[in-house]
Amino acid sequence: MHIVVCIKQVPDSAQIRVHPVTNTIMRQGVPTIINPYDLFALEEALKVRDHHGGEVTVLTMGPPMAEEALRKALTYGADRAVLLTDRHFAGSDTLATSFALSQAIAQIGNSFGTPDIVFTGKQTIDGDTAQVGPGIAKRLNLVQLTYVAKITSIDLSARAITVERRSEGGTHVLKSKLPCLITMLEGTTVIRRGSLDDALRAARSEIVKWSAVEAGIEDITKCGLRGSPTVVKRVFAPTPREQKAVQIDTTEKRVRDIADELVASIFTHQPALQHELSSAGSA
Ligand SMILES: Cc1cc2nc3c(=O)[nH]c(=O)nc-3n(C[C@H](O)[C@H](O)[C@H](O)COP(=O)(O)OP(=O)(O)OC[C@H]3O[C@@H](n4cnc5c(N)ncnc54)[C@H](O)[C@@H]3O)c2cc1C
Repeated sequence: MHIVVCIKQVPDSAQIRVHPVTNTIMRQGVPTIINPYDLFALEEALKVRDHHGGEVTVLTMGPPMAEEALRKALTYGADRAVLLTDRHFAGSDTLATSFALSQAIAQIGNSFGTPDIVFTGKQTIDGDTAQVGPGIAKRLNLVQLTYVAKITSIDLSARAITVERRSEGGTHVLKSKLPCLITMLEGTTVIRRGSLDDALRAARSEIVKWSAVEAGIEDITKCGLRGSPTVVKRVFAPTPREQKAVQIDTTEKRVRDIADELVASIFTHQPALQHELSSAGSA
């Protein structure tokens, strides 16, 4: 088994600030962590490797300081780390990010063996879009299993995987062929601490560092700002509503009176709606 886990170094969520002019996330001076969902993905990947054998490669795209996150992942027990770093990636939106990562995963396949499973987190805690995993799956033509809470079984001889996918109101049990891409929820598992051996190995390990060209990217215009059609126009906190709810006392009232009171209350708070309805009625 070869498993690739995409991890993103993110600012510790409580301390995120947004640049007032460019509307991009300001990372300078903010402590960083591995995106929490990615840690659950890594734990699930390590469990699969421990059970079935093979290797886990962690991959991140980011500035040189993202090496820290990769080294941390090695201390948890990942076997290999790849850092995709190049000024051409600066300003990437989710389209450009998933393009660059998918190219790097293909290159990892060429260099270290085709992955059987690619993991991403469900979403990050800074960008929050949850688009990168599906974007990678689409580009690599992989079956995508999203919002996975747990891998229940893998049958290597049949090249089949069964997972539990959490959805509103229940759990789906999905069976798929390998290879596939999984976007991981917070799992039910406890994240391991990593052994002393892993910590020593992590400190000594060489991180594979690839530029865009080394990752096999030929069309550089699909990377970074040039490859990013998304423009963040404005970032703001919505102003709180003046009144959250209106309570109508219904004790000992007829249904008709309650309905009248309800409609009157709606019109008081939304006079434009009353005007709209009366014009529609007279037309
Ligand atoms: C116009 C625009 C400009 C931007 N400019 C910048 C900028 O200059 N600098 C900047 O840092 N960000 C910038 N961003 C943010 C950037 O889009 C996101 O960091 C990136 O696209 C990932 O999106 P997300 O965080 O929503 O990931 P999600 O889709 O929520 O992430 C899902 C999963 O994908 C994987 N993943 C996501 N990103 C990475 C990564 N980099 N490496 C490995 N795995 C990953 C992780 O497993 C993660 O859990 C910009 C965004 C826009 C729209």
